[in-house]
Amino acid sequence: MIKPEAMAAGHAGKILDLVLSKGFRLVSLKFTQLSEQEAGKFYEVHKERPFYRDLVNYMASGPVLAAILEKENAVQDFRALIGATDPAEAAEGTIRKRFAESKAKNAVHGSDSDENAAIEGAFFFTGREQY
Ligand code: ADP
Ligand code: MG
Repeated sequence: MIKPEAMAAGHAGKILDLVLSKGFRLVSLKFTQLSEQEAGKFYEVHKERPFYRDLVNYMASGPVLAAILEKENAVQDFRALIGATDPAEAAEGTIRKRFAESKAKNAVHGSDSDENAAIEGAFFFTGREQY
């Protein structure tokens, strides 16, 4: 998912181009805005964390670009491509290093396991929206 601040800054095209150039195949793509309730559900695993409320408000603050991507080792390779959660700690050339504003507004979301990728994919897309 490309997060609201990166969408508002006009980085979506460059980020998507970078992702596709690294060999990820688009299975699904959607321009949408989460309600606070939906953002709260998406990030439910973090509900006890001190930043949860701010995270939910931010993720519902503007449109996002949601995608399902396919590749060998997709989860691991995508997380390597996006870089560390905090752009100050992200490696040179990573998406977060190039495009993130801060640890909270960090440009992109990536699933952390195949299991969560399936859950998060189904959160945004019906079966007929996956190719
Ligand atoms: P990642 O997105 O790298 O998997 P997490 O799953 O730990 O990171 O956190 C989810 C999201 O919550 C982050 O991408 C970021 O937007 C936000 N976040 C994480 N840690 C913090 C923090 N310490 N302060 C503010 N926001 C945070
Ligand atoms: Mg995470």
